[in-house]
Amino acid sequence: MFKEAVSHRADRVDAYALNEKELHIRLKTKKQDVQGVDLLIGDPYDWSEGSWNFTSISMTKSGSDQLFDYWTANVEPEYKRLRYGFSLYNKKESVFYGEKGFHHSPPEDIGEYFCFPYINKADIFRAPEWVKNTVWYQIFPERFANGDQSLDPKGTKPWGSEDPKVDSFFGGDLQGVLDHLDYLQDLGISGIYFTPIFKASSNHKYDTIDYFEIDEQFGDKKKLKELIGECQKRGIRVMLDAVFNHSGYYFPPFQDVLEKGEASRYKDWFHLWDFPVQISPDPNYDTFGFTHTMPKFNTENPEVKNYLLETGRYWAREFNIDGWRLDVANEVDQAFWREFRSEVKSINPDLYILGEIWHDSIPWLKGDQFDAVMNYPLSNNIHRLFARRDLTVKEFVENMTRVQHMYPENINQVTFNLIGSHDTPRILTECQEDPVRLKQIFSILLTFYGTPCIYYGDEIGLTGDQDPGCRKCMEWDETKQDRMLRDHVQRLIQLRKNEPLLANEGNLIFLPSDLSEQSIGYTRSDDNNTILVLLNVSDKKDHVKLPINYKQQDAIDLLSGNTIDWKHGKFTLQPMETKIIKLHHQ
Ligand code: CA
Repeated sequence: MFKEAVSHRADRVDAYALNEKELHIRLKTKKQDVQGVDLLIGDPYDWSEGSWNFTSISMTKSGSDQLFDYWTANVEPEYKRLRYGFSLYNKKESVFYGEKGFHHSPPEDIGEYFCFPYINKADIFRAPEWVKNTVWYQIFPERFANGDQSLDPKGTKPWGSEDPKVDSFFGGDLQGVLDHLDYLQDLGISGIYFTPIFKASSNHKYDTIDYFEIDEQFGDKKKLKELIGECQKRGIRVMLDAVFNHSGYYFPPFQDVLEKGEASRYKDWFHLWDFPVQISPDPNYDTFGFTHTMPKFNTENPEVKNYLLETGRYWAREFNIDGWRLDVANEVDQAFWREFRSEVKSINPDLYILGEIWHDSIPWLKGDQFDAVMNYPLSNNIHRLFARRDLTVKEFVENMTRVQHMYPENINQVTFNLIGSHDTPRILTECQEDPVRLKQIFSILLTFYGTPCIYYGDEIGLTGDQDPGCRKCMEWDETKQDRMLRDHVQRLIQLRKNEPLLANEGNLIFLPSDLSEQSIGYTRSDDNNTILVLLNVSDKKDHVKLPINYKQQDAIDLLSGNTIDWKHGKFTLQPMETKIIKLHHQ
């Protein structure tokens, strides 16, 4: 056995409480090195006649990546405490692995075992329950719909009359969203994520001037209240977007600093290096990237902290928003986020806090800062498989399995899954405008764990390159919409609602990546049912032999409603075909 590769740490990823009763324990071993793992478990205070009482349960192989196999077990300790170790075996040997290393057999000394001291309620990672069952729709307000021409900024172009430029205005506003709530409800979405709506000078509004005002191009506070009220009536949640890392260039305190320098009462609001403050040739203050128009906030300054925390509180308290999406979240200090969480959750414990982080995000996901981050690893792997096509099916499965095991399951359930946004080229454009590929991407997005988000217009086939190209006006002329694609998305959203296994009730396990070179398969299952998702991502027929044995009469194709002709677990997938199959356990 390759002991160097055996790895477990009693931290928040390998050993964590899923809720007040259940613990998840995970172990990593070298790929295809270990045949099975038993988890030895007992209460640390349960002894009889001088020996510790423990039992054994077998762990499930929950996936494999390029190098490792992952093993998972679900334990419900009677007294909320657990002492545990691993018994690993293959054809050649059997070993015990505990906190202090390896033994030939389970040691008598309980000190050799790993320890989960107690499931304390306060330490359990808890995201709002509703997020698990939400399907989001991202709206870039300037480009969704123009509902009030009286608010249009100077130089506004007729809707969709040309491709957007960096500084174009087309007059989109909150009334436009209100006017199209029927469309969104019909599509089936249950959450709207708005990119920033606060006062700012650009069309994207990430350059905030006033965190307490709605940009007048979009409407006013009364209109926002009306919009949120209408959304609530239709069961649609509302998430706003804020930039707390840096202000806009025209943010009055920064302008004051530029004007008065050292004499400005706001000089400690930013990270100024020296005086006078200069913006060129290079800024002498901390910025986002090297952009002089984005001065970084000093979030350790009590006044700045108060200003930004009050922003968080104000929109939660006065407008009853359901979520905050936080821009450039990992460059802001974590002490600030801890306070932010405690402040906004004290107003609304059910408010979803979503950080924009592109990398491994565990430091922010320990339950004291964010509920979730944007799942860029998912989008990246989907892009590589379907758009760039530089990833094999096997690599896709391995990469996704690795990401899945980087986070606890209760974090995965609320991870924000996106396949495109205002910051990326349109997914259809990336797929060489092949709607069949996009249909498959939506099939994955809407049958995967996490909380999926559709970028406005992707569902009707909008195209466009990197921004500003990906920020075209929404197409409202139905004859110019891809209705087949839209119907497919609508059907999948409905399916996700009808079959909770497809949302977050079922465990996701990829079928072994050597199943086929052309097809991806994964199951979503609980004790009673399994839903199998199969996608042939190639232009050739594929004959898949499934490793699971279910009886033919119980397989139903959820997309068509037909019974599946299923012989001996063999299955033929047409080129680029997707099947979502429900199986009843015998
Ligand atoms: Ca308008």
